[in-house]
Amino acid sequence: MHISKSQIADWTAMRHRLHRAAEVANTESRTKYRIIRRLKSIHPDNLLSDLGGTGVAAVFNGKKEGPTVLLRAELDALPINEDIELEYCSTTEGVSHKCGHDGHMAMLFGAAELLSKNRPKRGRIVVLYQPAEETGEGASRVINDPNFNQIQPDYVFALHNLPGFEKHHIIVKDNVFASASKGLIVKLQGATAHAAQPENARTPALAMAQIIQGLSAAPQLYVPLEESAKVTVIHAKLGEIAFGTTPGNAIVMATFRTHSKAAMDTLSERSLRMIAGIASSADLDVSSEWVEEFPATINDAGCNTHVRLAALENKLDLQDRQHAFPWSEDFGHFTQIAPGALFGLGSGVHQPALHHPTYDFPDEILPTGVKMFVSIVNRILNHA
Ligand SMILES: [Zn+2]
Ligand SMILES: [Zn+2]
Repeated sequence: MHISKSQIADWTAMRHRLHRAAEVANTESRTKYRIIRRLKSIHPDNLLSDLGGTGVAAVFNGKKEGPTVLLRAELDALPINEDIELEYCSTTEGVSHKCGHDGHMAMLFGAAELLSKNRPKRGRIVVLYQPAEETGEGASRVINDPNFNQIQPDYVFALHNLPGFEKHHIIVKDNVFASASKGLIVKLQGATAHAAQPENARTPALAMAQIIQGLSAAPQLYVPLEESAKVTVIHAKLGEIAFGTTPGNAIVMATFRTHSKAAMDTLSERSLRMIAGIASSADLDVSSEWVEEFPATINDAGCNTHVRLAALENKLDLQDRQHAFPWSEDFGHFTQIAPGALFGLGSGVHQPALHHPTYDFPDEILPTGVKMFVSIVNRILNHA
């Protein structure tokens, strides 16, 4: 596949412009307009906007009927202040592209550009730019948008750049690629009293401490040995800072992670029962809420074969991972509705970690991601 220097320069400039205009989840309207403008310039057969919020999808038809291959990128940046000198620094105070979604967007455009000029024999390609990946809301909102029917995919693919891996390396894993995760908010309500008379209060102090301990021990207590699970208590608050008052309320927040839905369901249900037991024995009212739910990203074996062969075709090094990544990706919603694969693209061994204030997507890997997407699509819509 031929990629010209001017195309690479154009995709790089596109990434820099997106980087400058960084927007957090659910506010990606400037980014959306930029993407729409670029996509219009390559004449899609259909262009959908405002999917699940600010989502955009462009459809490129092959020469005859066939399956739909959906490629996905993310529109959102992070509420992190940019702590690195760049010519194209984010102009949004306290917000910057620290997950490389600017690079993902430019690579997806590059693939769409090449495929639009060289249509596959059959089927159609959908390039989807989804909002709000970082908060785990975007993918499910896009899928539940009535207009998503128009782009219902038969196969779904996405990549994520991965610091800590050699640039241009392709990282694959069969079955579970990224973990399931969700947040739990527990609110305990008792009653305050004077600090001199805690016997007249219903203080949640001891229950809060027991819940923190109980949640920390929950994977050990409730999840079988062959499964993986973690619970991280991320926040807790008891009453107010008032030395004259016995506290009357408390809050505990934790993140749950597993590799399977079954383990997540067991862990969640048993943890809630444990919390209810602790609250009731302390005579407290309790309410629990789940937030930021990400299902596990499950790779389909056949789709992963296409990823492997695409890497081979482009003479890229392939790394097979033994274990699923501990972090989550809301691409897991897409692999629940169609066979697909998420793969990693190494972004440099010495690159700062994703979400680090000094991270920046390395432009050198832009053409690598473009080639991978184009090869995967051609394997499915031209060869098979
Ligand atoms: Zn991220
Ligand atoms: Zn990301």
